[in-house]
Amino acid sequence: MRDLTRCVKNPAVSTEGYASLTVPTHRASTITYPDGAAFARRRERGLDGYTYGLSGTPTTRTLEAQIAGLNGGERAVVVPSGLAAISLVMVAALRPGDRVLIPDNVYPPVVDLCVNYLAPRGIAHAVYDPMIGEGIAAMIDATTKLVWIETPGSGTMEVPDLPAITKVAKAKGALVGCDNTWATPLLFKPLAHGVDFASEALTKYVGGHSDLLLGSITVADLAHRAMLKDAIRPLGIGVSPDECALALRGIQTMGVRLAHAGRVAEAFARRLAAASPVARVLHPALDSCPGHAVWRRDFKGASGLFSVVLKPGLEAKLEVALSGLKVFSIGASWGGTHSLLAPMAIDRKLSDAYAPGKGAVLRFSIGLEDEEDLWAEIDTIMRKLAA
Ligand SMILES: *Cc1c(COP(=O)(O)O)cnc(C)c1O
Repeated sequence: MRDLTRCVKNPAVSTEGYASLTVPTHRASTITYPDGAAFARRRERGLDGYTYGLSGTPTTRTLEAQIAGLNGGERAVVVPSGLAAISLVMVAALRPGDRVLIPDNVYPPVVDLCVNYLAPRGIAHAVYDPMIGEGIAAMIDATTKLVWIETPGSGTMEVPDLPAITKVAKAKGALVGCDNTWATPLLFKPLAHGVDFASEALTKYVGGHSDLLLGSITVADLAHRAMLKDAIRPLGIGVSPDECALALRGIQTMGVRLAHAGRVAEAFARRLAAASPVARVLHPALDSCPGHAVWRRDFKGASGLFSVVLKPGLEAKLEVALSGLKVFSIGASWGGTHSLLAPMAIDRKLSDAYAPGKGAVLRFSIGLEDEEDLWAEIDTIMRKLAA
């Protein structure tokens, strides 16, 4: 072998005794085959086999298997973002002439997906009251192929009766998908209640460090995995093994991070209920939260994300109150080590009956900073709002 060939061909080294605790980052486009016949028959390897880097490497598959295991599912599919997880379910499950039901408190970009992507392709959507429960039956007609649930709802935290909605939807022949980002499978397992697709923005608690974007969809039925793969394959969408390696690192500490953030967030939510600028605290563990009883029945705990509604008229003071922060940062996305604040624009299609009222909504994501430092800054913000 001459030098230029030697540069290209990697020498074989022993891996004997290499019993590491970490998952290697396997990067690949090409997957090689022992002979031409094996290459010609590569499709026969199936969805769990390796054929091309886009459909996954052992790093990707390790993350998928870990997510599937936590969800009590058969398989998981990892996609480039939490939003991609939602859109992949919709694109895979819906055809022209079909209709999807989405809750009024859904993660806002899902409304965009329905209006600007699905509608021009002949797929309709209707918005339901997240507190509808079994009443969803009246909205499910023959064209309704998918019911989307988010629990609790983004921003305003109502907890829908997912088991009731799912039971009715399944009985009427619709598929059910659930965005489980807030709880993670550590606090709630949608598949155990009959949901077909459990999606999660791994960007949040699994990643846990505000440095990656990934999403997952877990299914209990292999036919649903095939449906998702059939939709994503021709689109040429895959994920980077480097992102998956970061997620595999993040998931190691998710349990302790979530427990800590959940405890501190709930304590802050209870204290904020007594703050004079606050009209209402939106946190599933407070009995003032719509769906609190459902949360107690179905969830193992709360994560670190909650909101408060400010008394009407305080909007003008919010900019000053949120200036010069030293502990909290202002921004979207959440579930990381840094605590975040986000003033939210709540845009509801349905009645105000369960909506938070007219005041500004401020969303808190609690991270891992010192609890006293965090509370001192919240106290400063409240004083500025009350002044
Ligand atoms: C952040 C978020 C998403 C989207 O996740 P990305 O990875 O940022 O695309 C979806 N659903 C909920 C509830 C979220 O909070």
